[in-house]
Amino acid sequence: MTQSITVLGSTGSIGVNTLDVIAQHPEKYSIFALTGNRQLEKLASQCLEHNARYAVVNDADSAHQLTAMIVEKNAATEVLYGEQALEEVAADSQVDMVMAAIVGAAGLVPTLSAIKADKKVLLANKESLVMAGSIFMQALNRSEARLLPIDSEHNAIFQCLPNRYRHGDQSAVSKLILSASGGPFRTWTMQQMEAATPEQACAHPNWHMGSKISVDSASMMNKGLELIEARWLFDTPVDRIEIIVHPQSIIHSLVQYVDGSVIAQMGNPDMRTPIAHGLAWPERIDSGVPELDLCEIAKLSFEQPDRQRFPCLELAYHAASTGGDAPTVLNAANEVAVDAFLNRRIGFTQIAKVVEETLSQFSFSEPESLQAVQYSDARARAVSSSLIGQL
Ligand code: NAD
Ligand code: MG
Repeated sequence: MTQSITVLGSTGSIGVNTLDVIAQHPEKYSIFALTGNRQLEKLASQCLEHNARYAVVNDADSAHQLTAMIVEKNAATEVLYGEQALEEVAADSQVDMVMAAIVGAAGLVPTLSAIKADKKVLLANKESLVMAGSIFMQALNRSEARLLPIDSEHNAIFQCLPNRYRHGDQSAVSKLILSASGGPFRTWTMQQMEAATPEQACAHPNWHMGSKISVDSASMMNKGLELIEARWLFDTPVDRIEIIVHPQSIIHSLVQYVDGSVIAQMGNPDMRTPIAHGLAWPERIDSGVPELDLCEIAKLSFEQPDRQRFPCLELAYHAASTGGDAPTVLNAANEVAVDAFLNRRIGFTQIAKVVEETLSQFSFSEPESLQAVQYSDARARAVSSSLIGQL
């Protein structure tokens, strides 16, 4: 019997890497549903190759187009559309595992739906934890679901933690250390960054990723989001999470123990490693990633992050320690600002300004429900959109 998998966001960078690992193990895994937003040709080919039962797109028009492509390819996939269909394919009783790899806030509702249906959930979509941390963790704790972190840093920490940490005994651990590559602008001045183009921001030195997370890596907002993600995943106060810049991206993160030991997880920068770890956990499977050659890499270096040149990091620290819906507002404003930057409506350094100004217009409170989170998210999007309109 194979394990049946839904890949939310199968046409993206994580989605494609997930299908690559799955295709290496046809005896272990099969595809139940694939979902995508815009790249319909790619989605149709994936459905054919993986013999998907269902494909989900955003709207009726895309569903129409995809159906035509699927009929043409003779694939036996049924096409559905809309948010409710995303929830259904994430929660279906025939599904064992869900890869949550939609980018941004759009991933929250289907990921929650997988959790409430007690699935094994592989979480790449960090924004869902950032925007709705407490609601998300409450749903997880009430369910029988199992959450496995796919973000390489969090997957590394998960691998380095002692078993009993997961059962509430944190006494052996003094600190979690998140590593950051520093992104393509690690050595750039503020002035250089002011003129940065979307192409330059997306040219990450070590990882090939979707455009939104690439821009987040360039601004270091990605590390800020990961700080908040770690705070929830590992139930750790923000002041016990440290960030170090490690430009080679070989050490994916570390755990500092009280006795002075530091345990790190290493590997080539290739998302198929954490994906394979999540898929197979607690077993191990081949991921297709070449073995690490430390002599060839020769040198690993480390430096402090610069919170002045990368103000997004500072804003995320602040939102994380403020708590309540501050991370919700941070995340929404960042999504809007990154989109505006990618569409050349604002400059790179204005991303941080939009997020800061949006945050300054809110007073924060603990969101008591999913609807409250969605309300804060929508308000923050409205405020940041109007700020961008004025720029
Ligand atoms: P991507 O842009 O390459 O792919 C995003 C996927 O989400 C696509 O399949 C797209 O069709 C789908 N999507 C986008 N908007 C949607 C919407 N409104 N409704 C439904 N589907 C939608 O992104 P990615 O780089 O694969 O990243 C996916 C997630 O994984 C992000 O949350 C990112 O932070 C996280 N992540 C990515 C990497 C990486 O190496 N790419 C590493 C760590 C974490
Ligand atoms: Mg990461």
